[in-house]
Formats: sequence, structure tokens, C-alpha cells
Amino acid sequence: MSNYHIKHLEEYFQVYRKSVRNPENFWEEVAEEHFLWRKRWDNVLSWDFKKPEVKWFEGAELNITENCIDRHLRTRGDKTAILFEPNNPDEPAQHISYQQLYERVNQMANVLKSQGIEKGDRVCIYLPMIPELAIALLACARIGAIHSVVFAGFSSKALATRINDASCKMLITSDGSYRGSKTLDLKAIVDGALESCESIETVLVAERTKNKIHMKEGRDLWLQPLLDDAEVKCSAEPMKAEDPLFILYTSGSTGRPKGMVHTTAGYMVYTAYTFKNIFQYRETDVYWCTADIGWITGHSYIVYGPLANGATTVMFEGVPSYPDFSRFWEIVEKHQITHLYTAPTAIRALAKENIEYVERHDLSSLKVLGSVGEPINEEAWHWYNDNIGKKQSPIVDTWWQTETGGIMISPIPFVTPTKPTYATLPFIGIQPALMDEEGKEIKGNQVDGRLCIKFPWPSMARTIWGDHDRYRDTYFSAYENKYFTGDGAMRDEVGYYRITGRVDDVIIVSGHNLGTAPIEDAINEHPAVAESAIVGFPHDVKGNALYGYVMLKEFGETRNQDNLRKEINQQITDKVGPIAKLDKIQFVNGLPKTRSGKIMRRILRKIASKDTSNLGDTSTLLNPEVVQEIMDNAL
Ligand code: ATP
Ligand code: MG
Repeated sequence: MSNYHIKHLEEYFQVYRKSVRNPENFWEEVAEEHFLWRKRWDNVLSWDFKKPEVKWFEGAELNITENCIDRHLRTRGDKTAILFEPNNPDEPAQHISYQQLYERVNQMANVLKSQGIEKGDRVCIYLPMIPELAIALLACARIGAIHSVVFAGFSSKALATRINDASCKMLITSDGSYRGSKTLDLKAIVDGALESCESIETVLVAERTKNKIHMKEGRDLWLQPLLDDAEVKCSAEPMKAEDPLFILYTSGSTGRPKGMVHTTAGYMVYTAYTFKNIFQYRETDVYWCTADIGWITGHSYIVYGPLANGATTVMFEGVPSYPDFSRFWEIVEKHQITHLYTAPTAIRALAKENIEYVERHDLSSLKVLGSVGEPINEEAWHWYNDNIGKKQSPIVDTWWQTETGGIMISPIPFVTPTKPTYATLPFIGIQPALMDEEGKEIKGNQVDGRLCIKFPWPSMARTIWGDHDRYRDTYFSAYENKYFTGDGAMRDEVGYYRITGRVDDVIIVSGHNLGTAPIEDAINEHPAVAESAIVGFPHDVKGNALYGYVMLKEFGETRNQDNLRKEINQQITDKVGPIAKLDKIQFVNGLPKTRSGKIMRRILRKIASKDTSNLGDTSTLLNPEVVQEIMDNAL
């Protein structure tokens, strides 16, 4: 029996046990049956978390693009690989078949080669969500160049830092990008960045907005004419299993971003296997992940995982609010989307709007819903479940990280019974552990602690680019022989995991450890509240006290604020306990977020502690304007 598609809970437990009893055998079987190898491995796994060093499928040779494209041509040549939905709903969608994808990737790969890119060179990709973005990743992989995608919402400075960190030789960008009603001048941002980037020799520019831009002689080239002249065949470079596939920087929620390095074989095996199971993907499905390819979610679950399974994967260029808040639902109906994978920040933003936007559209094609990026609060979970899934489509709350490469803790839809706010069970092959502050593992259920992983999994990052010491210090020094995630978690009576927030954000009040997620959850249940964030600030008696930043839905603003404060604290008392009551509640118009939409509590913590002289690295901040406003009105 093949272990590739798990169909019921007993089978999950059976396969899980097998995967942890003998991980080498398990992953060897998966790798053998479902992928195309140029050369077989000599050794499935070798590892040492002290160094740390992890190697999967050593000795093997492969090219991930042959697995994502070439091998589908015979059976799925005409099937849509990438379905591109433009920002403007009046512009026609593009269906790029596997055959067309093959040709376009090869042409792009030939262009890269003709511009002097060789195996191992780093190519920075700074593109909006247009087909060229996915094609550029795959073209790099085709020839063994290492891609480093930088989200095309980052500033010149943030882009320059990332280019310099990896000494990228080439940059691929576009003349501009569309985001809702706005047109952004990406090329000007690039020009600004490149003033301080010496390693870049060539800039390839895709045409999208036809903005008037400056092209620098001897450096900048329009991409399209080069593609037009390029051959549609480019043989795939045989890569070693542990050759780097890409570098990707973490979101920067907690500090200076880290350039995580992912390698080829293990990453491919794990993203493909998780995609198939965690979305219960079937051949005729139309899968849509709303993330940007600039984040790990897009790398693993827009590009590599879906394509390795021969899936149809949707790329959406726009934003959920344009032309109005029904855009997501309009797209679901238009393309008969079966899988929608999005983030709590988007769910909360859409839930705030009139339900009319949802009701206008037929969402009956949906089978599975996903969430990723932050803990999903209970109210958002129910809104998603009731209004989008109509209680028929299971929600997979997937916990994972840039560092983990693939989903680590998640329900399997129609297999694992879901529970609001719980990411539920470890995925096949994943061995979590909860640790106490003294470094001891906490066994049993109904406990909470710091989340670690005890055993390597195929898609784990192998290092931080250029800084292996930082890799060891950040992830492998807190607990001996374990990978430390930086997150806190609870394990309930049946062994389900709930992520309670980042350990850095845990607040100790009168000797009690309080995670941010359960308290914010209680606040968000108040009908007038749209979103909230809590942090600690020093307090003479309690050590720390809690400071809440609360953003109201519109109708909430007309209510008496003191009453609202009381109601919010009552809600916390009922759901979490009086210990978690907030000392201060500031009503705000927005919360500071990373460009991937996550709340940046470290900035709020500084404001609450009146320590605003140095806010740290704010280059990953999406909305600096709210920071000033929050500071001006701080309590
Ligand atoms: P940085 O590491 O630079 O501070 P970041 O941690 O936000 O940034 P990512 O790798 O994009 O960068 O995010 C991973 C983190 O997101 C996880 O460690 C966790 O805190 C949070 N997260 C992701 N998915 C979930 C989820 N389903 N439930 C709870 N938290 C989640
Ligand atoms: Mg992180």
C-alpha cells in the first residue's frame, strides 16, 4: 500500500507511527515511489543537531523542475499549471498549461545562462505576483542558480540589505506593479537599492504596467525581447540532493531577518508530500493560496508543492479589497476554486466588512480551507467556517515557519477532527516536544511549554546564508539536541497542539506565564472588536502588567470607551481568568504589521514601556504611519 495519500484517522496514526519509528525507511519509500531522480541516494539521512548538520538523500542527483514540469508533460501537457488572475478583474485570466510552462521556464533559463548566470550564482527576484515570478524561480532551479525572492513591497533599503547579504549577481524585476487601485513604481525602488549593491551585474526588467522608467545602460535589459529570442529547450542541470535551491528571508516579526537556506531533495519530497495530504488534493481540483510568492508559503504551496503534484495553482496579482471586498469570493466563483489557503489577517479584515460581499457569490466549489501565518483566533475561525466553508469545508490551521520549509502541525481534512484555534496533530514524520524553562521535556497531555522538534524532517533549513553560527545559536542552542521554534504551545487532553504565540512575547504577570494568543482571542470575541494585540509593561507589584491595543469595528467607535474597556476585561475574566485582565486599553486605528500581515508586538511592547528611542529594525513594517499615531496616543 502506498503511504502517499492518507484517507482516514486510523491510517494517519498508523503511518505516523511508522514515520517516527523508522524515519529513514519511511521517507525513502516516499522518495522512491513518487519522484524522478537522475541518480539514487547512497544514504537517506545523516544528522547532528550539535554542529548542526542535516543531510537527506545524500548522493542523489535530481532537478526539481523535472519533477515539477517535465514529468507531467506526457499525461498533463494541456492541463493548466498556473492560473493567473490579474489585479484588474476586467483583464482576462491566463491559463498557462504544463506544456507552456515548460517552454517559458526553459526560455527564461536560457536567458539567465546567456547573461552569464551559472550554477550556484544567486539571483534576486523582486517581482509582483505575475507569471514571470513563478517562472523565474523555476528557471533558476532549472540551471542550478540559487533564487532569493524579496517581496515586492519592501523598500529600497530592505531590498539592498537582502541583495548584499547574499551577494546576488542578477536582479529580476518589472517596470511596475498593480496593487488594487494603485500602480507602484518598482523600478524606482530597485534603482534606489542598487546604488548600494555592487554585486549586481545585470537587471532584467519584465514589462507589466508600461510605466516610464529609467533603464541604465550596460546594466538593465528588457526581459521580453531576450525571451523571444531564446530556445524553448534547456536541459535541466543535475543537482546534488543537498545543493541549495533557494535563500529566503524570514518575515522579520522579531528582529533582523534571517536568510534561510533550503536545499533540493528533502525540500521537494516534503513540500510535495504535505501538499498532497494536507489539502487532500485531487487531480481535477483548482487550488488557490492567496499568499505572495515572496514568502515561504508561496514558495512551498503556490510553486513547488502544487507543481510537483501536477496541480492547477492560482496566482492572484491583486488585493482582497479591490475593486471591493467581494474580490476573493468573486474569484472563488469564477474559477470554481476547490481549495482556499489564506491568513488570519485577511480573514479578520474580510470578516469586518458587510457579509453581503460574501453572500453575493456562489462558494459551493470549495472543499478545503486553510489558514497560516499567525494563530487564528476563535471568532475568525468561526466566521471562516460558517460563512465561507458553510460548515462543510474543514479548516486546516497549518503551523510552520520559513525555517521548516513545509507544514509541521496541521489537521488533515476529512481525517483529523478540527478544533477552533488548534493546529491539532503533528504531520507525518514530525516529532514535536514541549520543553520547560529548565530544559526538561514536558510529557503527557494538558500541558504547555516551548515548542521544539526532536528529529530532523526533510525540508528543514540547513543554515542561515553566510552565518552558520547564528543558525546554531538561534535554533539549536536553547535545548540540547532539539530544534527550537521560538513559539510556545499547549497540548490538550487528546494531544492536539495550540500555538499560543512567540515565546519572546510571553508575559509573566505575578509569576504566571501568559501567551498572547489566548488573551487576544478573548478580546476579539467582543462584538465591537476587529483585532487586538497585547504586550507586557513593567509594573511595581505584578512584575509585568498587560497593555492591550484594540482596534474596533466601525460601529464600536460610537460606544462609550470606558464601558467597552470593562466589557473587554469581563470577557477576558470569563475566558482566561482575572489574572489576564488588562491594566491599560488603548483604542487604535490600526496595528503595526509586517509586510506579510503579522502583528509586530515588539514595537507595541516598546511603546507600552515608554521606551521609544530605538524601535529596532522597522524595515519590514507595512504601515509605519500607525506607529506614530499609537505613540501619540499612548496611555
Ligand atoms: P521572524 O522569524 O523574522 O521574526 P516570522 O517568524 O514572522 O519572522 P515566518 O517564518 O514567516 O517569520 O513565520 C513563522 C511564524 O509564524 C511561526 O513561528 C509562528 O509564530 C507564526 N505562525 C505561522 N503559522 C501559524 C499558525 N498556524 N498558528 C500560529 N502561529 C503561526
Ligand atoms: Mg520566526
